Amino acid sequence: MPEPQDLEAGNFSNWLSDTHTALRNDAETDVPCGECNACCRSSYFIHIKPDELSSLSHIPDELLFPAPGLPEGNVLMGYDEKGHCPMLRDGVCSIYDHRPATCRSYDCRIFPATGIQISGKEKVLITQQIQRWKFNLSEADEINEHKAVHKAASFLTHKSKLFPPDALPGNPTQLAIMAIKVHDLFLEPDEQIVDDPKMVDAVILAQEKFDS
Ligand code: SF4
Ligand code: SF4
Repeated sequence: MPEPQDLEAGNFSNWLSDTHTALRNDAETDVPCGECNACCRSSYFIHIKPDELSSLSHIPDELLFPAPGLPEGNVLMGYDEKGHCPMLRDGVCSIYDHRPATCRSYDCRIFPATGIQISGKEKVLITQQIQRWKFNLSEADEINEHKAVHKAASFLTHKSKLFPPDALPGNPTQLAIMAIKVHDLFLEPDEQIVDDPKMVDAVILAQEKFDS
């Protein structure tokens, strides 16, 4: 079998800036997915908010169930026995123009960007795709930003016990997104942050500020 080819993930700084903007505005991301549909076949539960009326009207009610831990009206769509989204037909999204915001904002490059791993046999397809992305890291600024995002992800992963309960997301996608949101803290050493507990407080504050 031929080796899977690398994919050009783009200039890291540009990608990071675009991703920040998309996260701040809850906006659609522009991923050059090509023929890939791995995230539609990787046993993901798709969250749909109550105000996503266009998506809700195009998905049969029997495919939706209440999202645990979220306010009433938030629902999840599951997957079939193969791990495929039930709206995937003949390899393409049958509700593409009406797909949920979760699908519109998904960008699997957050994993190579942060170094956060996903595992499990149901995630093999997406893991293969993630391994193909290669960012352009030619300038010093790009290298520094890339290191900062990795440091942020490493801190969230390895110091998780220092965080209060529920302060960190429980899934790798949200953890990678959090690392991207707070990476500024790891760009320049802050003299006020002298130890890990102070960094934990700073991370929580930075995340709150980003989301506000
Ligand atoms: S796995 Fe990545 S490249 Fe493939 S469809 Fe999903 S976001 Fe696009
Ligand atoms: S709704 Fe469409 S884009 Fe979203 S997971 Fe299902 S098939 Fe993929």
